[in-house]
Amino acid sequence: MNGRQILPVAGQAQVRAYARKTTLRHPGALAAALGLHALAAVAGLAVPWLLGDLVQGVQDGTGIDVPAVVAAIAAFLVLQGVLIRFAVYASSRLGEKVLAELREEFVSRVLGLPLSTVERAGSGDLITRTSRDVDALSRTVRHAVPETMIALVTCVITLGALVLTGPLLMLPSLLAVPFLWISTRWYLKRARDGYLRESAAYADMTDGLTETVNGARTVEALGLRERRHRRTDADIARSWEAERYTLGLRMIWFPIVELGYVVPIVATLVAGGLFHIQGWVSLAQVTAATLYVQQLIDPLDRLLMWIDELQVGGASMARLLGVAEVPEDREAGTGVPDGEELRADGVRYAYREGHDVLHGIDLVVRPGERLAMVGPSGAGKSTLGRLLAGIHGPRTGSVTVGGTPLVELPLDDLRGHVALVTQEHHVFRGTLRDNVLIARPEAGEPEVRAALSAVDAWEWVSALPGGLETVVGSGGEPVSAAQAQQIALARLVLADPHTLVLDEATSLLDPRAARSLERSLAAVLEGRTVIAIAHRLHTAHDADRVAVVEEGRVAELGSHDDLVRTGGSYAALWSTWHGTPS
Ligand code: ADP
Repeated sequence: MNGRQILPVAGQAQVRAYARKTTLRHPGALAAALGLHALAAVAGLAVPWLLGDLVQGVQDGTGIDVPAVVAAIAAFLVLQGVLIRFAVYASSRLGEKVLAELREEFVSRVLGLPLSTVERAGSGDLITRTSRDVDALSRTVRHAVPETMIALVTCVITLGALVLTGPLLMLPSLLAVPFLWISTRWYLKRARDGYLRESAAYADMTDGLTETVNGARTVEALGLRERRHRRTDADIARSWEAERYTLGLRMIWFPIVELGYVVPIVATLVAGGLFHIQGWVSLAQVTAATLYVQQLIDPLDRLLMWIDELQVGGASMARLLGVAEVPEDREAGTGVPDGEELRADGVRYAYREGHDVLHGIDLVVRPGERLAMVGPSGAGKSTLGRLLAGIHGPRTGSVTVGGTPLVELPLDDLRGHVALVTQEHHVFRGTLRDNVLIARPEAGEPEVRAALSAVDAWEWVSALPGGLETVVGSGGEPVSAAQAQQIALARLVLADPHTLVLDEATSLLDPRAARSLERSLAAVLEGRTVIAIAHRLHTAHDADRVAVVEEGRVAELGSHDDLVRTGGSYAALWSTWHGTPS
């Protein structure tokens, strides 16, 4: 259950480097936002200064124009408000822009994940990363990063003002440093791991729930309810434990930080009073300094709060960046296939290390032929099919088309040579046109129409009110399973591979739909090399050659007639099937 972390998590140094790069991606916009915030902070500094003068004036008994001072204070406050408005606008714009870029990057990373890794990693981790982690990161980028910068700028400028007011008066504030420094360091050291654990526990929970929901029937049928309950309870317990841990950290950290705020104000006031009695500082200075220290609390507090949020964001960023660390399972090669011959030489393949499911397969598929693969369930037919379609690379040996290894072909090129046709066919949310164009985005309208016509789908597509522009997929115009399959077939026509690996695509549909689909399918197969994983023997009977796969090996290979004549296991299978009324 846990420890099934197949997708990697990036290291801290990497997260920092990436954060730095991202922050500096738009230096102009960043400088503008920070500059505006700095100006706003400076405008805010005028108020304590003026108040200090006011107090001093009253004490000295010199004539002071109170209305003028009040007017000046009001003016500075308005100025600060206006500056903050533009500063927040500038930093929000920047945040949104960076966020959009991060999202796009992450999406292309996820889409670029090797299929073999996605299959092994399971969906829970990936779903958590794409939902919860992206949300956490967006909070960080939208709010935490700009707020941190603003708080930092405000702190520095206020501290500067404090020093200018009287260096002596800065000393009492130093009392805050041990409180804040030590407690924050203590907290940060533990928080990252705490938050990573939280996310991982959450991923396990998502994983378990997805599995239970998807397999609800199996759970019912096998009476696994108790077991699933226990698993969910355990997941929740672990998630609760992880949340409790980080909450515990905050429970200790927050009160100490609060103390760190109050102590310097009191200290400045007391020490300032003493200094004043000694005649080292004026009353105006003490007033202004105390107000500055008071003014420091807000940005400091925000800074620390957002450091907390930055931790969460950092943990999410580590998980998002980790996706990029998945090693490629394809090597970018430059070979251009010479011809259409698909062949496997000495192919072995293992899903788990040390457990080969294919044991040295040699197979040459002749261009234009129909090759049927038959054999008992679990023999390795689907696995071999996926290798022949270039989805997995072989552990040893090679699968080549026209002499070029499939794993060295970029995916887009590969699909123009060999494609896998299965019963899984997803209709994406979008227009029908876009759904077909997935196969070859640069294709034009006539080609899309021709592809749909080729699979007998143009009739119903053109009858739709929106035609090609009809939105289908979740929430869109409903399409039947057969229509979805036709869309998938139209994609194939557009991609136009010379070889198809077919996992008996129509066997699950109702007979009426199956018949019309078989016509569509036949149109797609026409003129192409076809490797069919046959679940029904009449497919094998009609094929040019039959490969019998048994226990990860090609046990027999030849035409139907030859194999029947030889009297091997295919012959036995055939006579059993043929002998029973169907
Ligand atoms: P067939 O298509 O002939 O029924 P498969 O190629 O599906 O056979 O399976 C061959 C062997 O590989 C079986 O032992 C099966 O359990 C195993 N196998 C298939 N898919 C996976 C997978 N995704 N992960 C691990 N083992 C798998």
